[in-house]
Order: sequence, then structure tokens, then C-alpha cells
Amino acid sequence: MAQAKRSKAEETARRTEVLRRLSATYPNAHCALEHKNPFELLVATVLSAQCTDARVNIVTRELFKEAPTAAALNALPEDRVRTLIRSINFFNNKTKSLKGLARILMERWGGEVPKDMDALLALPGVARKTANVVLGNAFNIASGIVVDTHVGRLSRRLGFTKSEDPAKVEADLVAWVPKDRWVSLSHELIDHGRAVCSALRPKCAECTFADICPGAAAASAPLKKTGKSPSKSRSGLGKKR
Ligand code: SF4
Repeated sequence: MAQAKRSKAEETARRTEVLRRLSATYPNAHCALEHKNPFELLVATVLSAQCTDARVNIVTRELFKEAPTAAALNALPEDRVRTLIRSINFFNNKTKSLKGLARILMERWGGEVPKDMDALLALPGVARKTANVVLGNAFNIASGIVVDTHVGRLSRRLGFTKSEDPAKVEADLVAWVPKDRWVSLSHELIDHGRAVCSALRPKCAECTFADICPGAAAASAPLKKTGKSPSKSRSGLGKKR
């Protein structure tokens, strides 16, 4: 799309159209982390930092057989937890996080996952992104917009932000995205990032947003011309897939 200056009304219409096409293209977008309840989603999301969802799903299938609840995880020896999750990166730190959060859930919350941002942020291994995932997907509470590497990259290419900082990207998104779209938007952008708008080889020619995407030309330009690796657009915060 040409980089002509758009009026505020034109930009609002463009963004609204992006949202409309996203929901139309990915009507079944959902959290890729397998879970049956808020506890399982919390554990899976803590494990997913800097790890693929596919790897996390393989690990949690076994982990949840032995630790399906906070009580069971709290009772499971730390060495056993470490063994069960050792194929995940940072498994030592994540073992300590899981044991710590299980203990706090038992001591303060009766073994349940709290539906509260501050309470979630008090758990080890839980940052704002993890809390947003849990609140949005386990409790349908729109507390913010999850910004992983795909959401950050696509938000920049689609002209919603210029920032590489996930917190700033989230702030730029929540400033205009309707609240009832906060949870679904992340999943739709992630699906589009996986299917079409990859970091290294975006398929702009076949993309449904090509006519309204400010980043189409830059994203498709040969690397030697831009002198800039598309991988630099990674937020570094989210899940690699
Ligand atoms: S594939 Fe190209 S046109 Fe589509 S969203 Fe990504 S950069 Fe924009």
C-alpha cells in the first residue's frame, strides 16, 4: 500500500477493515496451548516462555498426568518436576517457578487460580503477558492484549505501532482496539503470522491485507536492499513457533 498520508477517518476505517478481515479469515483462532482448566493454562503459559507451543503441549500431556491440580503439583518432588519438563528450555528456572506458584496457590488461593492481575503477577514466573493469557483465555477477562513475537511483528507491519517494546506495542493496541476484540486479536494475528506473514518470508502477494498494509512493500523487499534483517522485528518476548 502506498505510504500516502491518511486522514484520521481514513486510518480509522483502515484499521477497522483490518480487524474485520482478521476475524473473517481466522474465525476459529484460539489459544494453541492445550489446557482443560485455568490451572493447566497457567502452567502451560509459564512453560511457554521462549519455547514453542508444540513442545509445551508434548511436555504438559505427561506433566498433567502426575500434576493435574495445584495440590498435586505442590506435592510432586522438585526433582520429578524437573525431569518431566527437562526437554523445555530454562527447565531449571521453570521448575522453581512451577513449584513456587503451586505453593502460593495452595497457601493463598485454596488451590485455585486467581482471576486478578495483581494476584497473578505475584506468582513466580508470571509476567504481564502470562497473566493476560490466563485472564483472557481461562476467564474471558480482557485485561490487555497478549503481545508475543508474531503480534509485535504484525502490529508493526500493519502500521499499528512503531515500537519494538512489547509493553509499548500493547499500549498502542489497547488505545484503539475495541475491548471485546483484545483476546481474539492476539490469536488471529498469531495465526496470520504463522500462515502468511512470517518473519523472514511474508507472502504479501497472496495476503488478504496487501491493499491496506503499510508494511507490504518493506516486508517483501530483498534483505540486501533493506540492509536490515526482518528477524530484528521479533519482540523476543513471545512464543516461538
Ligand atoms: S504478509 Fe505482507 S501484506 Fe500481509 S500483513 Fe504481512 S507485511 Fe502486510
